[in-house]
Amino acid sequence: MNVMRRLKSIASSRSSISDSGGDSFTKRAKFDQESEFKATGESNISDRSTPGPEHHMASTSSETVASTSNAASSSSNITEKLDLDQLPNEMHEMRIRDEKTTGHYDKDVGSNVINGNGTEAGQIITTVVGGRGGHPKQTISYMAERVVGTGSFGVVFQAKCMERGEPVAIKKVLQDKRYKNRELQIMHLLDHPNTVQLKHYFFSTTEKNELYLNLVLEFVPETVFRVSKHYCRMNRHMPFFYVQLYTYQICRALNYLHRVVGVCHRDIKPQNLLVNPQTHHLKICDFGSAKMLVPGEPNISYICSRFYRAPELIFGATEYTTAIDMWSVGCVMAELLLGQPLFPGESGVDQLVEIIKKLGTPTREEIKCMNPKYTEFKFPQIKAHPWHKIFNRKIPPEALDLVSRLLQYSPNLRCTAIEACAHPFFDDLRDPTACLPNGRALPPLFDFTAQELAGASPELRQRLIPEHARA
Ligand code: ADP
Repeated sequence: MNVMRRLKSIASSRSSISDSGGDSFTKRAKFDQESEFKATGESNISDRSTPGPEHHMASTSSETVASTSNAASSSSNITEKLDLDQLPNEMHEMRIRDEKTTGHYDKDVGSNVINGNGTEAGQIITTVVGGRGGHPKQTISYMAERVVGTGSFGVVFQAKCMERGEPVAIKKVLQDKRYKNRELQIMHLLDHPNTVQLKHYFFSTTEKNELYLNLVLEFVPETVFRVSKHYCRMNRHMPFFYVQLYTYQICRALNYLHRVVGVCHRDIKPQNLLVNPQTHHLKICDFGSAKMLVPGEPNISYICSRFYRAPELIFGATEYTTAIDMWSVGCVMAELLLGQPLFPGESGVDQLVEIIKKLGTPTREEIKCMNPKYTEFKFPQIKAHPWHKIFNRKIPPEALDLVSRLLQYSPNLRCTAIEACAHPFFDDLRDPTACLPNGRALPPLFDFTAQELAGASPELRQRLIPEHARA
């Protein structure tokens, strides 16, 4: 059913609804195109992290299912194609050179290309690291243990580093030999307690001469998705303290990504939030959709997994901002409180219907803020559902306040990641006596660097670092 028909049927079944008649023009093309996305089926092994042609990959929540391209954004694809970073020639000859000396042994670049798959349990993968910047060359072997994740872009398997005995996760993605891998480039920049750490990388080839990039990551045993499913299965809500702890750490990671690294993640969802179930330390993973957004330069709008897609993306905006990640955090936080997705759209089109059902019809002004090119929609007028009714149980007002600040139609009205961190919803975490329910200490929450706090007012800093955590 198309978006207008669905909204009209919702509007007519609600007593609180008035049909204002809306605007005189209807511009549905975008939505109709979107409804066709799923029908055509784009190759799901496209590398969305290649800097050039970004691939349209908005997907369902539980499994990342690649979708098809959107005619409206093909022009931005073309623009993005123009600034492709070509892979060094060495790559074509499959002799990979170090590109960056990090000074960290652990982050040294793999200098060899491994033949073979390496993902079968018991298989040993041997790579050489170091050899630059005065670091001695060293051989590192990994024993593949089991597959822990299969995304649409590759497979993630758990392995053990034979020399150190430590577990690692190896994310293996098909590498287009023509381009540098954007995920790898971005991961090199990251160094934060709430982003997964890249330890090393290497390339491998298959019999078919396909080249794979293997990202060796610190291993984190759980995801917020699985933790949340665990509570659902027991018919329980996630303890409120964990909702605070997880949401805070996501916001802290996003403040770092947005303001320090200058990157938008573009695929925040429970599956991409790794958690250590003992310490409840959270780390964002999957930088395969992440990108530095340059003001004035277009980006693809068909990005981010469906339930967590900001409305401006559904409206086809190409000049969006890091506020799309803040919308996703709002969806994740609400999902943890509810025990189920807040906006469970069944298709790209239906996603907007789900949002409108709860937030009400966006005003003309809000539509303009989301995408100035879409000011002429005729939507049936649906009133917003009050947040306390959506949650249907006793939720503290601070939680409702934060959700409502994150889930604003107008991207520039959404709170930023640092503002979110300082929100009273997280005050329990700042209590000097706060600890995990098992009595253990909290994961690191207040060890902000000067860069993370750059530009923050003295009042904001005071709020962010509670007195007991100040040096
Ligand atoms: P894709 O981009 O192919 O979707 P992801 O990076 O999202 O791949 O990883 C897919 C899944 O693999 C995650 O949802 C998670 O379950 C698992 N995973 C990813 N990285 C790690 C890690 N460092 N430690 C443990 N599991 C991981």
